[in-house]
Parts: sequence; C-alpha cells; structure tokens
Amino acid sequence: MSFVITDGFIYTNHDNQILEDHALVVEDNIILDICSKNQAMKKYPDFNQLDAGGKLIMPGWINAHTHFYSAFGRGLLLNAIPQNFPDILKQLWWKLDRALDEEGIYYSALTGAVSAIKHGVTAVIDHHASPNAIEGSLDHIQKALDQAGLKGILCYEVTDRNGKEQAKRGLEENRRFISLRHGQIKNSGLNAVQGMVGLHASFTLKDDTLDAASDLAKSLGTGCHFHLAEDKADQWQIPDQLSSTERMHQHGILGGKSLAIHGIHLREEDMDLLAETRTMMVHNPRSNMNNGVGRAPVERILSKGITMGIGTDGMSQDILQDLHAAFLLLRHGKSDPRLGWKETQKMGLECNAAIFNRLTGQNTGVLRPGAAADMVLSDYQSPAPLTGQNFWTHILYGFSSLKTDTVIIDGRIVMEKGRLVHVDEDEIFSKARECAGKTWQRFSELK
Ligand SMILES: [Zn+2]
Repeated sequence: MSFVITDGFIYTNHDNQILEDHALVVEDNIILDICSKNQAMKKYPDFNQLDAGGKLIMPGWINAHTHFYSAFGRGLLLNAIPQNFPDILKQLWWKLDRALDEEGIYYSALTGAVSAIKHGVTAVIDHHASPNAIEGSLDHIQKALDQAGLKGILCYEVTDRNGKEQAKRGLEENRRFISLRHGQIKNSGLNAVQGMVGLHASFTLKDDTLDAASDLAKSLGTGCHFHLAEDKADQWQIPDQLSSTERMHQHGILGGKSLAIHGIHLREEDMDLLAETRTMMVHNPRSNMNNGVGRAPVERILSKGITMGIGTDGMSQDILQDLHAAFLLLRHGKSDPRLGWKETQKMGLECNAAIFNRLTGQNTGVLRPGAAADMVLSDYQSPAPLTGQNFWTHILYGFSSLKTDTVIIDGRIVMEKGRLVHVDEDEIFSKARECAGKTWQRFSELK
C-alpha cells in the first residue's frame, strides 16, 4: 500500500525537531520520503492521501516486556492476601498459567494485541507461560498478533518449577517456534513476529536447563529473555557467594542478544557484568511497585552504558503509563528533581527501539526514509508551544495514549479513528470474558 500522510505535525525522533507543513510518504512497509506537502503532491501524484487533520505523528511505542496471559489476572480475587513476592507467584501467576488452555492463550493474546494498538504500541516483546498447554502455545499468540496487525518477539518461559520434563518441553517449544519463524521469514520475507528463548528466572532454573537454553539460543542465533533480581529471593543463589547475574553468566545466558528484566537488587559488580556482556535490560516500574519488590537503579544501569528499555510486565498494555511512573519513581526514589527526563526519554524512545531492532534486524522507532512504516497519529491539543526540544516534557506532563487515533504498522493501517481495522474488538472482548471465566474456574480447582 502506498500513501502520503499530510496535514499533521511530525516528531521524527532523530533530529529533535517537529516538522510542520510536511508530508510523510509510505510505500509498502517502509517510509519512502519525508518532504514538504507541495513536493509530495508533485512527486507522488498517484499515491492515496491520508489527511492527518492536525494530529501529532510519531513513531509507534514499543513495549519491551509484557505477559499477554496476565490479561486474565485482571479482576481475579485471591482467597488470601499474598505475603511477599514468592507468595504472589505461588498464589496467582503460577496458578493462572497452569489454568490456561489453548483458547485462553489465544484470547488473552488477542485482547492484549488490541489493547496495545489502541494505546499506540506498534511492537511488543512477550514472555509466555502455560505449563498445561506448552506445545504450539507460541503459534496461538502469533496468530493473535498477525490478526490484529501487531509486531512482536515471542518466547516460552522455561522453568524447572514443574519438573524436568516440562522444562525440556518448554525448551522444545522455543526451538520449534524460532526455527519455524526462521524458515517462514526466509521464504516470505515477512518478519513481523519472531522468537527468542524464554527463561523464568535463576531461582527456578537448574544448571543443566540453563546450559541447554544457552546452547539452544546460540545454535539459533538468538538470545535469552529472563527475569533477573526482581526480588531478593532471586538475587543470591549461594548466599553471599554467587549472584544470579554471575550464575547466568557462568551458564552462558548473558550476551548482546539477551534481555534481562527488572534488575532491582543488582550490585555494581552485577551491572558491570551486564555492561561487559552487552546484555540488554528492561525496567517495569508499575509492576515493581505493585509487587512491592523495590526500585531498579535505572540511573546507575544507564550510566554504565547498558541498553535499558521499558515494559509493562503485563500490568496493562499501555506503555505510556509506565513511562510516567518511571519518571516519578526515579525522582521520588532518589529525592532528586533533576532526574527523570533524559532517563525516561532514553528508555522510551531510544532503548526500546534499539532492543527490538537488535533482536529482529528491523529499523523501527524512527521516522526517516528507509525506516519501517510504524507510526501513530494522536490528538494532542497543547496549551503551550510544542517544539522538538521540549517534546518529551509534553509527553511526560500532558500526553495521553488514550488519544491515539490511527496506528500504522509495516505500512498497514491497523487502527483508524480509534477502531481496529482488521478485527472486531467487541466480539474479541466478549469471547475473552467467556474464556477468562472458564480459566478462573480451573484456577479455583488448582492447589
Ligand atoms: Zn515479567
């Protein structure tokens, strides 16, 4: 599809400027040109025109860590109040994942994909677990993303918490999906959804499983996606001797294509190890506050040169809420009003795209000729002047993802005037509620 978007103002995210009276030209799945409206009308007379109606045009948001299946945790009431983080896992997440069946995987992912797009997200990195429906689980999520039109990187969460046999089946699901996608991408050239190797966290993984995961990732040319030092329970493997970061490194899990999530209880030595190995990281402030596990030292992590992005960890699919939370949490946590702007801008606009692009070989997160045509058109009525220099302060203090109007992914319009184009949202959410009810029934029967 080829079209020219006119009459908006464009934040390109590479030269700190807002372009007015410009047109953005899309051909197939890439941005062909950005030029004046007059030039575009002359150069591309046969292209369709999409009138942005004064909206802000910017690259789509990326959610660098989420769990689509957590959608069915919303509204689920527990019998007892969890006492700490391991108890939250045992009472809620390690039961909800066991209650999932194939239909639940599909509908939780589909509602997640729809919600992501409605909040201006054009790419996600998902971390999935369904111990009683492992084989083919990633295919169901891929199908949901393809139907909604969302880009993504998927993985299955391998763990030894349910026994050796399930850990092996989890590894095999990763191998199967990553290999399948390699083949399909080679044949079709369509690389919207890709895979990597998923791992839960050091404290639920045995040595031989970590070795097998490392070998698998290396053999497939990818990395591992795992939680790291989210709680004190996952910081020390041998008290005062071996940190989870050191252990992951010993087993070959760290590296330039690996993604470590959280990092709340890291020591300086751990951060240095992550920096040396070029391991990428993701901050999830709302989830961390919700679990009461502490605040990740993002200012220290970023100062080491680590690529640290930001994710929702399944709290919702609205990454803007996490960017706002990260900003306030950093200032509040350090009692320092000088912090927050540049750190959150780096995570939200630079690192998330760097992570996605390094893992997929794509060129998203920026509006320039040759980049992926992944962008969002939003209503933004500013009470004060908006410039390239003050753009991020507008995002932090006044911008809402609820004003997302149109979303374009790989040159396809997937949302227009606030409604998804390729799927029926009302029907999806109705079926999801039915499916969540059945999942909750199975949840209530589990020990
Ligand atoms: Zn997570």
